[in-house]
Amino acid sequence: MSNEMEQLRKQLDEVNLEILESINRRAELVQQIGQVKSKQSTKKFDPVREREMLDLITANNNGPFEDSTINHIFKEIFKAGLELQEDDHRKALLVSRKKKPENTVVDIKGTKVGNGNVNYVFGPCAVESYEQTAAVAESLKSKGLKLMRGGAFKPRTSPYDFQGLGLEGLQILKRVADEYDLAVISEIVTPKDLELAVDYLDVIQIGARNMQNFELLKAAGDVDKPVLLKRGLSATISEFINAAEYIISRGNGNIILCERGIRTYETATRNTLDISAVPVLKQETHLPVMVDVTHSTGRRDLLLPTAKAALAIGADGVMAEVHPDPAVALSDSAQQMDIPTFDSFFKELKDIENRLK
Ligand code: PEP
Ligand code: MN
Repeated sequence: MSNEMEQLRKQLDEVNLEILESINRRAELVQQIGQVKSKQSTKKFDPVREREMLDLITANNNGPFEDSTINHIFKEIFKAGLELQEDDHRKALLVSRKKKPENTVVDIKGTKVGNGNVNYVFGPCAVESYEQTAAVAESLKSKGLKLMRGGAFKPRTSPYDFQGLGLEGLQILKRVADEYDLAVISEIVTPKDLELAVDYLDVIQIGARNMQNFELLKAAGDVDKPVLLKRGLSATISEFINAAEYIISRGNGNIILCERGIRTYETATRNTLDISAVPVLKQETHLPVMVDVTHSTGRRDLLLPTAKAALAIGADGVMAEVHPDPAVALSDSAQQMDIPTFDSFFKELKDIENRLK
């Protein structure tokens, strides 16, 4: 290397270190200003002040950098300073593992979800009658299962389709829960029904179509009941996690996440089961993660293979729909299992569960 080049590089290194010292000195000042702002509870970001600083800097810019380049560089420096001012807890979500490294275990009437064991939620798509619901409950009880699902408020694509029995559906679920010693899970679609529902249900389900119904999420965060939150039809994992954050931010941390397939261009299945969402969610959050194989596939023949995949990939549970006579079901007739199919499905799944242990 020429002597001249060596000299220039040495000078460059010195300037780098000067810049380093200067931006860290700036960072210290920014932190001190942040503390003053905290005491005064003033907002950390002040656009008027930023504009003044940029104006002063560009007014003194003698090049060779263009003003726009200088603006860009300083805006990055300002941004880094602002991040330094903001409390750490504002950056780490309450649902994140960063915030809470250990798993959240949701206790549903004594059944623990998220403690490393696999849990199952089975039941009809919709509660249609006492007899229909009790027939499924009977089958669950005979298998030693404890968690039953059944929709009372059904969010349907068409307003002319069966909308669920509403309150009567909740009453049937409660009766069946008491008679068969089960815990019941059902979807609530509007904040005003939440208060009513807590008297009948053990878990509040928030469905895919309502994953970004922020008022409903807030209301679910205010009740003292576990919430099973489904991933939205086209929600990214980040949107899903933020939806859970709405609930926990109001004080209710008993949340189970449920991957139920997302909408893609694929038409072979009703939705595309995003199986890798399970380990992503488990890494990024401390919440239990279940997989709904019914709504993700929309195909009875895929329930078992996808449920196996869910167990193998580390899901905390599997949800699937069971109906005593799916052919005449008032909703999701094509994908619910009848009881004999359910019997063999469950037997095979248990075999897999034991082999994976
Ligand atoms: C359901 O579980 O009854 C349901 C409607 O599912 P999703 O919200 O996932 O479509
Ligand atoms: Mn259904």
